[in-house]
Amino acid sequence: MEEDRTRAATGLSRSGQEVPVPGGGVPSAHALSGEEVLRLLGSDPERGLSEEEAERRRERFGPNVLSREASVPWWRVLLRQFRGGMVFLLAGAAGISIAMGDLLDAGAIGAVVLVNGLIGFATEYRAERSLQALKKMTSPTARVVREGVAKVVDAADLVPGDLLVLEAGDIPGADARILQASRLAAGEASLTGESVPVEKHADPLPEETDLGDRRNCLFAGTSLVRGTARALVFATGAATEMGRIGGLLTRLDKGRTPLEERLERFSRFLVWLVLGVGGAVVVLGSLQGRPLLEMLETGIALAVAAVPEGLPFVATMTLAVGVRQMARRRALVRNLAAVETLGSTTVVCSDKTGTITENRMTLRVLLPAVPGEEGELWRVAALCNNGALGRDGDIGDPMETALLRAARDAGVDPEGLRAAEPRLDEEPFDSSTMRMVTFHAAGVAIKGAPERLLEELRYVRTPEGRSPLDEPAREGWRKRVAALAAQGMRTLAFASGEDREGAALLGVAGILDPPRPEVRGAVAACGEAGIRVILVTGDHLLTARAVAEETGILREGLRGITGREFGALPEDRVAEAAKDLAVLARVAPEHKVRLVQALREAGEVVAMTGDGVNDAPALKAADVGVAMGITGTEVSKEAGDVVLKDDRFATIVDAVEEGRRIFDNIRKAILFLLCCNLSEVFTVFLGLAANLPTLLTPLQILWVNLATDVVPALTLALDPAEPGVMRRPPRAREEDLLPRPLRWRILVQGLLLTLGVLGAYGACLVLRPGDYRGASEVAFFTLVTAQLCFVLNLRRESFLRDPRQLISNPLLLGGIVATLLVQVAAAHVPLLQEVLDIAPLSAPQWGCVAAGALLPTALCQVRKLLSRDRTSPI
Ligand code: ADP
Ligand code: MG
Repeated sequence: MEEDRTRAATGLSRSGQEVPVPGGGVPSAHALSGEEVLRLLGSDPERGLSEEEAERRRERFGPNVLSREASVPWWRVLLRQFRGGMVFLLAGAAGISIAMGDLLDAGAIGAVVLVNGLIGFATEYRAERSLQALKKMTSPTARVVREGVAKVVDAADLVPGDLLVLEAGDIPGADARILQASRLAAGEASLTGESVPVEKHADPLPEETDLGDRRNCLFAGTSLVRGTARALVFATGAATEMGRIGGLLTRLDKGRTPLEERLERFSRFLVWLVLGVGGAVVVLGSLQGRPLLEMLETGIALAVAAVPEGLPFVATMTLAVGVRQMARRRALVRNLAAVETLGSTTVVCSDKTGTITENRMTLRVLLPAVPGEEGELWRVAALCNNGALGRDGDIGDPMETALLRAARDAGVDPEGLRAAEPRLDEEPFDSSTMRMVTFHAAGVAIKGAPERLLEELRYVRTPEGRSPLDEPAREGWRKRVAALAAQGMRTLAFASGEDREGAALLGVAGILDPPRPEVRGAVAACGEAGIRVILVTGDHLLTARAVAEETGILREGLRGITGREFGALPEDRVAEAAKDLAVLARVAPEHKVRLVQALREAGEVVAMTGDGVNDAPALKAADVGVAMGITGTEVSKEAGDVVLKDDRFATIVDAVEEGRRIFDNIRKAILFLLCCNLSEVFTVFLGLAANLPTLLTPLQILWVNLATDVVPALTLALDPAEPGVMRRPPRAREEDLLPRPLRWRILVQGLLLTLGVLGAYGACLVLRPGDYRGASEVAFFTLVTAQLCFVLNLRRESFLRDPRQLISNPLLLGGIVATLLVQVAAAHVPLLQEVLDIAPLSAPQWGCVAAGALLPTALCQVRKLLSRDRTSPI
């Protein structure tokens, strides 16, 4: 079956039906000519497939995904809830109940198992769903031509026969045969291990050519590092070379995050601890002469209650909910582990154009070499340009469209110029060369970063033609460029000539791209949160400085240098230089990597943005790689941990805040579960130690566990960020989930809760001496109520000082109230009365419950009120 599927999705190897295969053999796409491949796959070199045909093929070959990414069916998630030690323990307890002839108890235990399982299922399924939705949002896209129209589709919708239009930075979503290529090179390290980009072309190759040498094919999971291409998809999904070796197309993996792993280890440890305690209870109770079976049941119930089975699961849930929240704030998380890291980020290295600035460019200044003669300059601006002014919006790089618009405003017709001088070849803009060159019949047209061009060019335009560009003239131009840059303008130089050697400087331009209005505030927020912002840009140092000063990034005591200076630093001084850096200008991609490494060496947790083809290494090297959703290449998105839907800097800051909130909430849930479980263990244990009659029956323990864990564990994930989250320093990367002081607090709070319960129990006995049953019922009620009240303590600020803390999470509050009502109602339902061994309480008994339940919370609040320490949630 799998075999069939695999073969079927390779359009070419399919035999019979509408795509006949010559000789009945399995031809390889690389050995055929482009025309043959087109014919075999029934596609058109200009129009591609029809939508209808694409749909048909999609039905037939299935989606273009690897089969193991298929989603987990709901019944599996459901079944998963009923395995593991907990269920066995409970089954044991039910067995004991049956042995004691207590069928009602056994049934009740069965109900507990069921309810527990259903709740687990509901939440896990939801978490799974929202992660899947997220995965869809971040899934790769592909540009195809269908019915003659170029459009962007989900890579999962590609079918054999689709005509791909690709450019540098794209990822071919499927295996495709190249039909047309211009200066094409692909990085195929992920497939072949070859780290040097491979030149590609469209000519047929011998049948026996190895995978690594199939230069006329592009493969899923590799990337285009240079050039442009048109290619025809011939294999999708599991039939691709990547599918065959079982590689992964996307990175949002289901793997556990470090946090989840730590929690899982922690709860495994707790299981053993708790089993020990359960055993001790059985032994102790039996020694006191209590019935063995009853003690066994108590031991088991205690073990069940005390194991925070919800723990790893709360983390997953909170992560899933949080990640969805982040998506709403326009940050798409591709790698769950990044959420945790985001919260401890100490340095954000941000691109300038489009992230800090609007990417809405206008040409402000044009300085031609020959004053008054701008014609040649406009010609180059139009020819050496990939933008287009469309009726419904501009297409392409905003700087290039700004040039076109300015040309048009100056009375030049860019389209006409382009039509008159067709482009023979292009050397695309690249952030390491910082220039773009186009070749035409009459010669070359060049535009690029002025400093770079000034180094290379040997001539400058004069009214007579050209004259050599001497050092004083270069210096003069540099000054002019610096003056523009100092005003925050992006600078660009133009040149043209018969060939590159003979090209003459035509002039420079200053282009304004205003900072986004919200950046200043976001930078200030970073400052308060202990996060340094470094502006990393390909622009002129002075441009970068001007923008950095305007947005508050460049402050007293911080410095700005160029990538070249940074790159020239000796190895041992890099980390030092990175310490007070705020601007790194005229950077090439390798400088970004060096910067990340230097910062990390200095102990920083680094978030780095990137959008270009060559940014992938820096994105991967960073603790959190942040890719741009709008301007970013597919390659950079694939390399990033987070994708910014709107490219805005402020969104990064939002994501950091969200990361901190999520971590806080996971910690709150853990603290709550541990304190409560501890109180249950202490209560039973102390009751036994004091040789009291049964304080809590096994079913009461199970009930407490169910009633109090569920609502808080589920709704704490929705807790809003606490008022000061962005006013505290970043959490240290190595900081334990439960640092030592917190562990003490847990112990103390667990004891306080127990104290409340035992206090209420004692008070009852004082009120009605000898009524042990009534007292133990009060203890039961107190335990539930005390735990529910305790939830309100899980905030850093006391609600006595800031009452808003009480109502900040309405769902949580509602859940608590609902649970309390259920508890009260339980005392009136005959069946539950019998199972839980309870009856409606009298007024004095309620008094005892209220006092015992409020005491621990009151103490905790008073401590918060008196203490100045705001670092702990309890
Ligand atoms: P950024 O970090 O702002 O994205 P870039 O790497 O895009 O910087 O650009 C760096 C410099 O390269 C610009 O200041 C400009 O001088 C030049 N440049 C940018 N885009 C182009 C282009 N399409 N063609 C030629 N030169 C360009
Ligand atoms: Mg750019």
